[in-house]
Amino acid sequence: MKVRGYAARSADSPLAPWEFDRRSPGPKDVRIQIDHCGICHSDIHFARNEWQFTTYPCVPGHEIVGRVVEVGGGVTRYREGDLVGVGCFVDSCRTCASCKDGLQNYCEPGARMTYGSLEADGTSPTYGGYATQIVVDEEFVLRIPASLDPAAAAPLLCAGITTYSPLRHLGVSEGMRVAVMGLGGLGHMGVKLAASFGAEVTVLSHSPSKAADAQRLGAHDFVLTSGTHALVPLAGRFDVILDTVSAQHDLNSHLNCLKRDGTLILVGASPVPFPLAAFPLIFGRRRIMGSLVGGLPQTQEMLDHCGKHGITSDIERIRPTQINEAFDRAVRGAVKYRFVIDCTKF
Ligand code: NAP
Ligand code: ZN
Ligand code: ZN
Repeated sequence: MKVRGYAARSADSPLAPWEFDRRSPGPKDVRIQIDHCGICHSDIHFARNEWQFTTYPCVPGHEIVGRVVEVGGGVTRYREGDLVGVGCFVDSCRTCASCKDGLQNYCEPGARMTYGSLEADGTSPTYGGYATQIVVDEEFVLRIPASLDPAAAAPLLCAGITTYSPLRHLGVSEGMRVAVMGLGGLGHMGVKLAASFGAEVTVLSHSPSKAADAQRLGAHDFVLTSGTHALVPLAGRFDVILDTVSAQHDLNSHLNCLKRDGTLILVGASPVPFPLAAFPLIFGRRRIMGSLVGGLPQTQEMLDHCGKHGITSDIERIRPTQINEAFDRAVRGAVKYRFVIDCTKF
């Protein structure tokens, strides 16, 4: 099946229109007409080979929302016309301990990622959502609540679940103090979600222009981190810090802002490693944990939570021809707070 989309052909060439093949739907597959796809910073890291494992051509995109337009004969969960989403992975081994626990994101042999993996045939690459259509096994398709604006719901498929999952894992709730580092796509969802769990939320940002937005998004406090001693008054303050920063930064001064036994959740995936000092961890028995998106059951739970509480992403809609400009603006932090591509225009 021929599909139109946008692809990167090398690390330093702009994305450009590209027509490619998708498999025809098998018995358990649904074919989705993509309406919207968010631009995650991971798409940028990946398209530009910043993590050093990209194969080209590469069609990014894993915040996908669209309508089911065809179902295979064995599909039971979806019907033509359903509003659905696809996130960061499209299959997994389904038999390992993580898959059995509904944590397909941590599939031991590795989940099949929406882009940059290999299809089941072992040779064709998977291509993401910067495209008109995608074919996905129904088990890996999510239902989008009817109460949400479909375009603004698209970023929930990555930015939403990536922040929801570790906050839930740590039991974030009323009475807890949460700091969100980096007010971008992930960060602004982290603020909305932590606030919806009843936590007191502080934004730690290096952009003075975001102070007013932080409050509007649900934060109780905003601290500009670019000053030399900006974090000193926050020593020992937070139960949890959600670190969404996409580039190299100073972890150590932020760790000091945790209470005893506090946890810094690292979800930002800086391609450049950063130094870790022993003392901020040792004094205070503090922890750093990583977290990778979330499993399918929890992704549906997150979508339903957002449906119930009216939570979506703040988005800027763009046409496919604006993708390269959007990449550059996202890197400069000049987006409020997620670009979403109108995929009907490819
Ligand atoms: P984004 O929208 O570009 O936001 C990143 C934010 O980080 C910026 O808004 C900025 O916030 C801050 N920042 C950027 N450069 C900085 C620098 N040099 N120093 C200090 N702060 C800086 O990106 P995103 O889509 O939210 O993604 C964030 C990161 O998470 C990326 O690395 C992405 O690959 C990763 N990610 C991980 C997962 C996972 O499963 N773990 C899933 C999705 C994405 P301020 O202006 O407020 O400081
Ligand atoms: Zn993502
Ligand atoms: Zn598995």
